[in-house]
Amino acid sequence: MPCLADSIRHIDPSLQELVVTVEQAASFATLISAAGQLAHTLAILLVQEVLTQRAQQPTEWPRCSKCGTRLQSKGWLPRQLTTLLGVVRWERRVGRCPHGCKIGQVAPLDEQLGLASHQQTSGELTQVACALAVFVPFETAVALLNRLLPVPVSPSAVWLWVQAYGQRAMQRLQVELQQLADGQPPVAEPLDAKTASQPLLIGADGVMVPFRPAGGQPHGRTRWREIKVAILARLSQRSTRAGKPVTHLEHRRLVAVLGDIDALRPRLWLEAVRQGVCHAKVVVWLSDGGRGFWNLYAQCFARYALGILDFYHAAQNIWKGATAWLDGRTTQARAWFDAMRHSLRHGESNRVLDELMATLQLEGLPASTRETLSQVYTYLQTHREHIDYAKFKELGLPLGSGLVESACKWLIQQRFKGVGMRWSEDGFNHLLHLRLAWVNGRFDALFAPALSPNW
Ligand SMILES: [Zn+2]
Repeated sequence: MPCLADSIRHIDPSLQELVVTVEQAASFATLISAAGQLAHTLAILLVQEVLTQRAQQPTEWPRCSKCGTRLQSKGWLPRQLTTLLGVVRWERRVGRCPHGCKIGQVAPLDEQLGLASHQQTSGELTQVACALAVFVPFETAVALLNRLLPVPVSPSAVWLWVQAYGQRAMQRLQVELQQLADGQPPVAEPLDAKTASQPLLIGADGVMVPFRPAGGQPHGRTRWREIKVAILARLSQRSTRAGKPVTHLEHRRLVAVLGDIDALRPRLWLEAVRQGVCHAKVVVWLSDGGRGFWNLYAQCFARYALGILDFYHAAQNIWKGATAWLDGRTTQARAWFDAMRHSLRHGESNRVLDELMATLQLEGLPASTRETLSQVYTYLQTHREHIDYAKFKELGLPLGSGLVESACKWLIQQRFKGVGMRWSEDGFNHLLHLRLAWVNGRFDALFAPALSPNW
């Protein structure tokens, strides 16, 4: 009767002990864990065998990058790499320039495998570590990794990987921004026909994050700084069990920057082009009253998008007017507000503005009341095109910016505002861009090995 344990035993004497541990495991849990260890060891042996075979193939030596002479073998040197399976060791030929050019040692096999000369960890391990760090604090990411991996990983290693790949993401973004500025727009992201036919929603919000004091010292007062976050998504309608239609955000893409509106503008425009802002059937800009964001709308999106002022925000302003005018007369204030809110909701914004104007013309209004009412009037007048709620409802568009705000908050809140967390500018930026790569579906591309041209 063929026995798997016996055949494994014969592969390599070093496996003997591991096989025995598997055979003698008392509980199911120890059986699985011992078999896992054996599997890792076996996998490493297999990888090493394949690498050794490849290293023995005749080497095609490249030419010296300085003088063009063909490199010559200087013999065999060991190499090792920490991987998800454990440490892999092999030997391969290295060569040098026969004329002594200072180009260092060249290992053609390493290049074929997509390995950089200083690399000590394989790509799939760094990628898993960075993916964990996108969601949980560094210490937790390290603790989880060390439960899953057969070799220990240090917190400082994980931290360095996050910095390196976060920086790579930032550099790529800089290149794209420069290309856009030079008149080279990004390629639009491919969408299936159904998604492409759905309205494109764009909105933005500010979220505060705690930073270390200037200079990055660990002590001293926390500086709260605003992160500008924008979301782009396709709107779909679904029904609840009760048959009530609800709006869902699909194909979500986020943009964020530690900086002001001027820093957000090109980044948001870049992503908007990628998400088809110029070609989408319906584009909606949904925002609350923040003036900076509405200026951004006017500068970049008014040509393409329907602007919607958050309904609750508009109503809140009317309530401000109601209390200023009918201060102390609560029942009357409530009734006036309800009537105005109802008119606003049902597309009668003219009526709301007329009523405000009529109230402003009443004699004997205190100066402060007049000022508040006049502010509310100007506010709604400025946003006149953005408060046509009956039309928006008919088009199946959301009237509240709650969806936008919660998506923006989620990006930042979930990872950057844990108890006791305070960030340095670089540390924050690197992790932010890794997180953006993840939520925008570009994480794997960030880790794709830079293959050499002769691969
Ligand atoms: Zn040379």
